[in-house]
Parts: sequence; C-alpha cells; structure tokens
Amino acid sequence: MELGALVCTPRRPRCLTCPVRKDCRARKLGLQDRIPMPRRHAPRRRIRYLCGILERNGSLLLARRPLSGLLPGLWELPGGERSPGESEAEGLARNLRERLGLQVEPTGLRLRAEVEQTLTHRELQIRAFSCRWKGRPRPQGYPEVRWAPKRSLNQLPLTTGMRRVADQL
Ligand code: SF4
Repeated sequence: MELGALVCTPRRPRCLTCPVRKDCRARKLGLQDRIPMPRRHAPRRRIRYLCGILERNGSLLLARRPLSGLLPGLWELPGGERSPGESEAEGLARNLRERLGLQVEPTGLRLRAEVEQTLTHRELQIRAFSCRWKGRPRPQGYPEVRWAPKRSLNQLPLTTGMRRVADQL
C-alpha cells in the first residue's frame, strides 16, 4: 500500500484506518496534522538580464546560448546578467564587451522592450536596449552568432522570454 499517497496524506491523514496507527508517534503526540512540516521553497532568485538590440542593414544580431546549462542551444539577443552595483549601461556594455568583444557607448541606450517571466527557481527580468556600438562580433561566451532579418526573428528557436521581446520590437 502506498501509505503516504493513500492514507497519510499531508492535509488529511486517515488515522482511523491506518495500518501503522498503533506505532505512529505523530498520532500519539497528537501531531498527525502537523508532521511532516510543509516544505518551504527557497525564494526564487531574481535575474536581471540586459540585452542589446544591435542592428545592421535591417538585421539584428542574435546569439546562441551554450549547449549545456539553462535553456541550452536556444537563441537570444546578446547580453548578460546585470551585476550588483552596476548601472544598466555599465552592465550591458560589460556583457557585450566580454561576450562579443564589442564596444558599446554607454550614453546611447534606449529601452525598447521589457519582459517579466517566472521560471521554476528564478524570476527573470529582460530589458532590451537599442545602443550605439562599434566592433566586429567575436563570440566568447556563445557558440554561435548570426544576423537575422527583423521579420524572421521568430523562425529561430528563441527562448520564451526572447520571443516575447521580439514581439515587442
Ligand atoms: S496514524 Fe500516523 S501514519 Fe497513520 S495516518 Fe495517522 S499520522 Fe499518518
């Protein structure tokens, strides 16, 4: 018998018909409604993801996520997480420098899209900015980048958050 599933359920333990009631310490102590204590879930970690809308000849630069880890192999606008103490301009410029070798002018940012998404263990905020930038993309944190025409962004397998960003652009 599946005792935990059929008899000793967390909300309504059926002690009168329970085969182990004579030996049950929870019942003897009158704690059958409180043991086991409900598991407390750890608070979701909040991620503030900044991404750049880098345009060239009507196309946007997209980057493929690493093939292992969170959301492997899906495509996104390039960027990264904002670190504590960083401004958005600093965070975006740092991520695009570190991950693509690009120089972003910190004063030229314009917010174009914003998405809030709740994942199993995370709360994700994505803010996408147009920016002035220089350089040639040399991916360091991505396995692949490509220029994609704006109208066909949704033909690539984007992350859910990025699909919602693309809908706003
Ligand atoms: S007697 Fe104990 S094990 Fe059986 S249902 Fe009650 S609390 Fe659960």
